[in-house]
Amino acid sequence: MMDCLFCKIVNNEIPADIVYQDDKVVAFMDINPQAPFHALIIPRKHIATLNDITVADCETVGHLQWVAAKLAAEQGFAEDGYRTVFNCNSHAGQTVYHIHLHLLGGKPLGWPPYQDTLKVNLNN
Ligand code: AMP
Ligand code: ZN
Repeated sequence: MMDCLFCKIVNNEIPADIVYQDDKVVAFMDINPQAPFHALIIPRKHIATLNDITVADCETVGHLQWVAAKLAAEQGFAEDGYRTVFNCNSHAGQTVYHIHLHLLGGKPLGWPPYQDTLKVNLNN
């Protein structure tokens, strides 16, 4: 995928603050962090959205979650808690079309994340 930002990070064509990598995945710090620790964990394989996952990708997608838990433990907030998020398509605010698992931690996180939107939806 020539024009994919995250494929370029996987291929070392653009810089990133990489915190973990192996043969299946790469994890790096988000450039616009929404928590004291905010990393993105991505498959080396280009998959545009969650809707494009096949059964053959399931092990890799599970591996993303395993890496998130490993990073949370290394960062020291596994026991306090943290959040992992996949955004899928426009209603969820996906902006980069190469699936990425957000790992947010290091402080108490509000829930639900978009209270105003939720109220509007419940009232309609
Ligand atoms: P999403 O809205 O779920 O598609 O999330 C995309 C995320 O990628 C956002 O949190 C951005 O801050 C982050 N991001 C965009 N470009 C880069 C980059 N070059 N390096 C690290 N994170 C990035
Ligand atoms: Zn890609």
